[in-house]
Amino acid sequence: MKKIRIAIDGPAGAGKSSVSRMVAGLLGYQYVDTGAIYRSLAYAMNDTVKLEDHAEIRQLLDNFDVSFRMKDDVNHIFLNGEDITPFIRTEKVSMLASSVSALPFVREALLEMQKRYARAGGVVMEGRDIGTVIIPDAELKIFLTASPEKRAARRMLELKAKGVEITMENLVEEIKRRDDQDLKRAIAPLKIAVDGVLVDNSDIDLFETAELIVKYAREREKLN
Ligand code: C5P
Repeated sequence: MKKIRIAIDGPAGAGKSSVSRMVAGLLGYQYVDTGAIYRSLAYAMNDTVKLEDHAEIRQLLDNFDVSFRMKDDVNHIFLNGEDITPFIRTEKVSMLASSVSALPFVREALLEMQKRYARAGGVVMEGRDIGTVIIPDAELKIFLTASPEKRAARRMLELKAKGVEITMENLVEEIKRRDDQDLKRAIAPLKIAVDGVLVDNSDIDLFETAELIVKYAREREKLN
C-alpha cells in the first residue's frame, strides 16, 4: 500500500494540530505543522522588527532554519537550533503570524521548504493553504472546521493547559479577527480545495475526528 500525502486545512481552533498529530500517529506518518513555521518567523521578529520592515524580515528569512522533533508526545519547534516551543502559542505571536503570513514575499520564501516536507509521502501536513497551494495534488485533502463557539472553547482549554491567561471574550474576538485576516488575504487565502473533503467536528470529539480521517486515508491508500 502506498503512503499518501494528507493535507489538513481549516480555521483557528478546529483542532487541526491535535487531530493531525493523532492521524499521523495512527498511520505511522510524519506530522508537519506549517503554522509553527509562520509563528517562528513572528517570534523571530520579536518586538524589534515591524511588519513594515520588509528588508529586515527578508534578512530573518535568509537565516531561517526551522525543524521539528517529537518529544514525549509534544511537537518541539526549533529555530536555528533553539527550542522555541513554549513561546510561540501566545495570542500576540498568533496575530503577528497571521499578519506576516499575508506578505507575498514571506509565503514565497517559505514555499519550497514546505513542499520539500511533503515530497517523500507518508505525511500529514496542516495549515491554511496545504491542499490549495503547497500540495495541490495531495491524495487526501481535508477542510476541518467547527462552529466559532466550539473553536473558542477548544482554544481556551489548549491555552489554559499551557498556562496562557486569556478571557473567553478576548479569545472569540482574536479568533474572529484572525479568521477574517486569513480568509480575506489576497495570497493563499484559507479556502477549501475543489476536491477537498469538508469535516465539521462541532459535534464529535477530536479522537473521533482523527478516526474518521484515518478511515478516509485507508481508502485512499488502497486506491493509490
Ligand atoms: O495554524 P496556526 O494557528 O498555528 O497558524 C498561525 C497563522 O499562520 C495562521 O493564522 C495563518 O495566518 C498562518 N498560516 C498560514 N498558512 C499556513 C499555516 C498557517 O498562512 N499554511
